[in-house]
Amino acid sequence: MKQPLIGGVLGAAQPIAVRAEGVWLYDSGGKAYLDGCSGAVVSNLGHGEPRILEAMASQAQRLSFAHRGSFANEPALQLAERLCDLSGYPHVMLANSGSEATETAMRLALQYWQEQGKPRSTFLAHEVGYHGATAGALSVSGNAARRAPAEAMLHDFNQLIPPYYYRFAGPSESEPAFGLRLVDAARRKIDRDCAAVIVEPVGGAAGSAITPPSNYLAGLAKVCAEQDTLFIADEVMCGLGRTGTLLAVEHWDVRPDLVVLGKGLGAGYAPVSAVLVSARVHDTIHSGSGVIANGHTYGGNPLGCAAANAALGILIDDCLIPEVVSSGQHLRAGLVELMRSHSIIGEVRGEGLLLGVELVADRETKATFSPVGSLGVSLATAAQAHGLMLYPANGGVNDAVIVAPPFTSSTSELDDLLDRLDNSLSSLA
Ligand code: PLP
Repeated sequence: MKQPLIGGVLGAAQPIAVRAEGVWLYDSGGKAYLDGCSGAVVSNLGHGEPRILEAMASQAQRLSFAHRGSFANEPALQLAERLCDLSGYPHVMLANSGSEATETAMRLALQYWQEQGKPRSTFLAHEVGYHGATAGALSVSGNAARRAPAEAMLHDFNQLIPPYYYRFAGPSESEPAFGLRLVDAARRKIDRDCAAVIVEPVGGAAGSAITPPSNYLAGLAKVCAEQDTLFIADEVMCGLGRTGTLLAVEHWDVRPDLVVLGKGLGAGYAPVSAVLVSARVHDTIHSGSGVIANGHTYGGNPLGCAAANAALGILIDDCLIPEVVSSGQHLRAGLVELMRSHSIIGEVRGEGLLLGVELVADRETKATFSPVGSLGVSLATAAQAHGLMLYPANGGVNDAVIVAPPFTSSTSELDDLLDRLDNSLSSLA
């Protein structure tokens, strides 16, 4: 059959999603799917939320676009103010996708050094990590499979050991010792040409909910300050309540120079992303050239910002972040329980409602399946057949899925998710 639309796998037929409501997606054949991963950890507030739809419709009727080169617009001003109020950062830049926002943060870092007459040209990031699909963002991503087809246009920056205790700790190395070793290794890697260290506080698309040892991020931030480089937190996936705090870095009391937000900002209603900018970076550029020669046509467009304003309003007004904590505990306990009947589960990890399930051929030795990465995809495929959506997330060294339902999931919906996962794991075996 001729298929004009090119997707990931050429010629592969996918079910056609036609509507969604709450935590459920429906295809054109009427089949229902429980959204166990909020798409790609995007639909934090579930689907069809009337307050967001109304905000977007009302904005569209007044003003759907005015170019950022000539006009500010009310929803963008309001979004910047709201993000600053919530996060304590003084400035915000807006873009559309997570990749664009990552690149924006990287360019702000480069410009920060240029403005001082001491340009720098490299970045440091985790060996297992994902920061986006565009050339700059992919250059700091450690995901070999995603890099390979684009390698010719990527930079080959030095990499940090990922804070991935399950696979990268030495035999009998404690978590604190592992954290210290990584901080020490980072100290030796940061040189005078390093514009910034960029990391996901909780790693997502590469590796699945990789949660660092408790001493790691604060240690890394301290080393960045000592070695005089900028520290960027990529919270595209883990930010905005997903881990049970507004920003994931709050778990470790860390304040990066730049924080990247995306996905949950528009919550699946419109593409919108942002960079939270510290006074240090902003003021250096402001008192230098005062110009940021970087932007995207749709960056800060009224419709995306209206969706984000409504989504942030719901996140705060409906007190959903505490819900993430309690739902996360319930779901995590259920996932750990599944380990009793499914020896294929090597580890359950994560924070809040950003949970990862790592799959192994042998729990004792942590041996992976071959080819590595294929089993996470197989589990997600089996789950979809059972009416459950999961997000496969291998970092080239493991098999894993992300379990990250909307914050609005009820306890019975979380239990339904666990039942469907149980059946999917059984069918896989
Ligand atoms: N950064 C992180 C941590 C991500 O997980 C992703 C996407 O998965 C991105 C950046 C890129 O975002 P987008 O796909 O919206 O460009």
